Amino acid sequence: MKVDWLIVGAGFSGCVLAERIASQLGQRVLLMDKRDHIGGNAYDYYNEHGILVHKYGPHIFHTKSKKVWDYLSQFTEWRPYFHHVLGVVEGKKVPIPFNLNSLYALFPPKYAEKLEEKLLDNFGFGVKVPILKLRESANGELEFLANYIYDNVFVRYTAKQWELKPEELDKAVTGRVPVYISRDDRYFQDPYQAMPKYGYTEMFRKMLAHPNIKVLLNADYREVINDIKFNRMVYTGPVDTFFDYMYGELPYRSLRFSFETLDQEHYQEVGTVNYPNEYDITRITEQKYLSGQTSPKTTLVKEYPQAYVPGLNDPYYPVPREENRARYELYLKEANKLNGSVIFAGRLAEYKYYDMDQAALRALGLFEKEVQEKTPDTII
Ligand code: FAD
Ligand code: UDP
Repeated sequence: MKVDWLIVGAGFSGCVLAERIASQLGQRVLLMDKRDHIGGNAYDYYNEHGILVHKYGPHIFHTKSKKVWDYLSQFTEWRPYFHHVLGVVEGKKVPIPFNLNSLYALFPPKYAEKLEEKLLDNFGFGVKVPILKLRESANGELEFLANYIYDNVFVRYTAKQWELKPEELDKAVTGRVPVYISRDDRYFQDPYQAMPKYGYTEMFRKMLAHPNIKVLLNADYREVINDIKFNRMVYTGPVDTFFDYMYGELPYRSLRFSFETLDQEHYQEVGTVNYPNEYDITRITEQKYLSGQTSPKTTLVKEYPQAYVPGLNDPYYPVPREENRARYELYLKEANKLNGSVIFAGRLAEYKYYDMDQAALRALGLFEKEVQEKTPDTII
């Protein structure tokens, strides 16, 4: 088989690049994945009860990028959806990110008022304060509050998810869920928030429905690479695997997902309930909130964090911290030696905690800089 591009991995990164290369440059692409489906970790499917579930954990689309929104809107209609998360703290379910409503749900009104006043004086209404920053800067009553939130929302959740303390990770990790001095209970505040109306997999199908794109599933690229002639390659798998672990393993975190379908219309009040303190799980998501379906049954997914063991489970999260970044830099140097013959893209290949929209934005950027600009003659 002869193609212009071999793209390894049919997730957001691989699908965006395949679509752009095929439709904008008219070049031929073989997109492959070792799994038996397209979509990478954003893959969804209808289970035996007709409920749309996310095989690799709940995926909620949100972005600040008009570019990404406009691009994906070519391949899907959207269902407006604002994700809400409650966290169980001292037996009560309170809004996460922790906000002024959480404060009033947990403390007597007079004390909550006092804490609110301090937050407003120190930071201002509408401000998002990462928990580690709140702990650094707080004194007096705010120091109490910072420690309370750290202890009851972050420390044990983070221990389950990463087997680390919040301060042992890049600040940006817990900064994804900052204390929000607001009454806005939504998990995200991005201007674009919605779910693909017919699911992610359907959106990917449309992206890949181009005669220049062939898809090969159930195959590790190493099994077939000698049988395919190609000019350039995109690789979206783990970067350390690509280089045969020459600088040792990069740590990734994994998860085990446990699905349960109940004979009841709803199980919980919102899309996701976090369990920062109790149980081995971090959170339970009720899929119907994400899909907007109505049904007398409901499907839940529970997430059990695990260490990633190559060959045994899947790498889901890079572990953002200094020592891992240093090791990643060694791999990046090796990648740069290949002079663009292989483009490394995405959460695993770039060892970056990308959300879906960031993976898509990065893939669009790589297409413009590393693909389009380097093949100007072939633009159709
Ligand atoms: P992936 O989706 O991981 O795709 C890489 C693909 O490469 C995989 O399909 C893999 O099978 C394939 N591959 C690897 N090695 C090989 C090989 N040797 N041969 C062939 N194929 C190979 N983002 C959000 O925006 N919102 C969310 O709510 C959200 N929730 C998430 C929840 C969980 C539990 C997880 C794990 C992630 C979540 N994300 C979320 C992030 C989102 O999944 C990623 O941003 C996105 O999937 C990245 O796409 P990718 O193409 O870079 O990687
Ligand atoms: N986090 C936490 N408690 C929570 C929610 C989040 O400690 O109730 C921390 C935890 O370290 C988590 C990180 O914040 O890994 C990022 O949370 P997010 O919900 O963004 O994680 P993701 O959806 O990517 O798994």
